[in-house]
Amino acid sequence: MPEINAEKCLEKRLMGRLLPVEDLQRVFQQTRGLWEKLHGRRVFFTGASGFFGSWMLESLLFAGTKLEFPFQSLVLTRNAKHFSESLPHIAGDSRVELMEADAATMPEPEGAVDYVVHSLVPDAGTSLGDQEVFFRSATGWLLDVAVKKHVEGFLLCSTGAVYSPHDSAGAFSEDDPRVSPGGPLCYGQIRRNVEDLCLEAWKYRNVPVKIARGFTFVGPRLPLDAGFAIGNFIGDGLAGRPITVKGDGTAVRSYLYAADMAVWLWTILLGGQPGRAFNVGAEEAISIGDVANSVGLLFDAQVVVEGKAEAGMAPSIYVPLTGRARDELGLCAWTGLSEAIEKTIRFSAGGSFPNKKSQALLRPCPVCGCFSGQVLHTQHFILSKDHPLQDHYDVVACDACGFCFADTPISQTAYDAYYSSMSKYADNATSTGAGVSEWDAGRLGQLAGHVAEFTPDLSARILDVGCAAGGLLAALQARGFTEVCGIDPSPLCVELTGRVAPGRVWTGTLTRLPDGIGSFDGIILSHVMEHVCDLRSAMERLRSLLNPGGWVYIEVPDAARYGQYLVAPFQDFNTEHINHFSMTGLANLFRQCGFHPEVGGIKEIFSAKDIPYPALFWFARVADSPQAIEKDGTLRAALEGYVRASAERMRRLDETIRRTLAKQSSVIVWGTGQLTMKLLAETCLREADIEVFVDGNPVNQGKELIGRKVISGTELSSGSTPILVCSQINSAAIIQSIRSLGLTNPIVELSDKSE
Ligand SMILES: [Zn+2]
Repeated sequence: MPEINAEKCLEKRLMGRLLPVEDLQRVFQQTRGLWEKLHGRRVFFTGASGFFGSWMLESLLFAGTKLEFPFQSLVLTRNAKHFSESLPHIAGDSRVELMEADAATMPEPEGAVDYVVHSLVPDAGTSLGDQEVFFRSATGWLLDVAVKKHVEGFLLCSTGAVYSPHDSAGAFSEDDPRVSPGGPLCYGQIRRNVEDLCLEAWKYRNVPVKIARGFTFVGPRLPLDAGFAIGNFIGDGLAGRPITVKGDGTAVRSYLYAADMAVWLWTILLGGQPGRAFNVGAEEAISIGDVANSVGLLFDAQVVVEGKAEAGMAPSIYVPLTGRARDELGLCAWTGLSEAIEKTIRFSAGGSFPNKKSQALLRPCPVCGCFSGQVLHTQHFILSKDHPLQDHYDVVACDACGFCFADTPISQTAYDAYYSSMSKYADNATSTGAGVSEWDAGRLGQLAGHVAEFTPDLSARILDVGCAAGGLLAALQARGFTEVCGIDPSPLCVELTGRVAPGRVWTGTLTRLPDGIGSFDGIILSHVMEHVCDLRSAMERLRSLLNPGGWVYIEVPDAARYGQYLVAPFQDFNTEHINHFSMTGLANLFRQCGFHPEVGGIKEIFSAKDIPYPALFWFARVADSPQAIEKDGTLRAALEGYVRASAERMRRLDETIRRTLAKQSSVIVWGTGQLTMKLLAETCLREADIEVFVDGNPVNQGKELIGRKVISGTELSSGSTPILVCSQINSAAIIQSIRSLGLTNPIVELSDKSE
């Protein structure tokens, strides 16, 4: 009995399935104006059973049916029987005629040929030498056909592999040098020579050649076992295997969804200038490791990275610049990566998606208002007694716009009460905003410089929302701004800041604006919006406070880079940061609320001495016309990587605490901040005999945590009980406090020694 090859059966099933109607519909909508050119024409396809060819042919059949225009297609195949078996719905269509021939015979097709789609590739496993012969002879023959038949368009499906690899990391533009035509034989060179054959035919024989240089794709019919990383990951997930990364996961790719790809290819053939090459792909880059994490999360599967990163080696980047396709043909990547992966899985799994963790949200997406999202992580906290916030929430990605945020049912009112009562910014020594330390003064000075650059008018009336202890106001005044104002929920902060800008600082928040503060030429929200529950009404209020032509500056942590700046595990999933912005996410918030984002960028700030932290910003003004938002296709995968790395770090902290507790019956825990709240919830610290908690911030002193008192360091006396320093961000400052108080207890740091 012959052995059944399960993988082959899967492939066969995938090929035979009709493409999703919603995708064909989408291709049709985006290409509607182009099809007139094919009215009554005959299109010759090579490689029609492949990924490119089958998407093009099937979308053509769909459009022809929709618009009821007559056309014919002639499909070159090496084996008509095999083609009919693998794509019966195409082979059986009366508008499709199969022409059986192999590379050796290559007869001239009978009848008219008006367009050629050349996406023929040799069989897998063909040697480089044979590939060269194959491409050269097949292309030469096709170009002869094109000349004889006077074709109106000739699409060469080429590849980004024709570009000469960059020395510096970066994306490829059409003007970049290609692989040298001499030199040792390689795939890129073979494909380059094919391009040159075609370009010569345009130059000297008038064949209207258009070149599409494909990069990396994802979508229905992508082979799941043919060396495409993303396809392999999906194949792993469908087969119930761990998602296996063959390399070290640092290589960077970008993925264009197949339906978008079909739009691009048809648009290039029917709308592109002859003799011109266009990159075909997405610009949004993502590491292979993050792609694996993303697929792993969807399947709830483990991710295994087999390769090791080489120190100092830049990741290999294979990403196109697509300005030419965008500017000349109006093309863009309409489908985000998460959506593209999900669609591919759903198609490959036969329509169902049992493991998908989408859920109805407690808090609708604060950017677009969507009510459903997918869980990336569930964060738990142990909170002090009578704490107004919730002891856990899910971090979710919005299904519609891709924004990521804490799905908490806590109201804005509760957050406002929390901030006015528990403001940690009252403690100048270890908190940000006051501009007291050198590193923080540097950040505020730089921000003031940015503002001065954007708005040279020094008499502009500028409001700093969440002014804390007034550090930014002082920095702006130092730049010469005369009308700086501030509001802050904490009366203590307002008192401190009042000394910087007398009479222009008020107690309040965006939701509880003080009366009679007037209007402003500019409003600054630096590290505020990640805390705000109801973002859209906050934006409404900002608009109402602006003078005509006024601007808003928003700076927030850059969630897309959390993973690159990881210090304490899950540091950014805390009780206070409930919105996770990327450049796209913040721009979308502005657009959704009628603003036009004008100038933006990413930056590095410091969250404590020597601890860099990623941030991003946009300056925006009120827009004249409604602004469309774009789906953020990459943030989610970046956060999935961050979750994985944080979980590993949390596990190591658990080991450190376990070792400490093995030697001592009890400990003193110094610090009751975000890390402690998580350690108590998720490590063996919850079982420890904690003598007492110490916290430097007066607002925390006197509180009660798991039945133990929180005291100040001065109330502690020396002894043999070890002090566990429960902060990674401020650990140096805490150790200094312990030393300066003359305490002789052993100190245990939660360092990450295993790195
Ligand atoms: Zn959304």
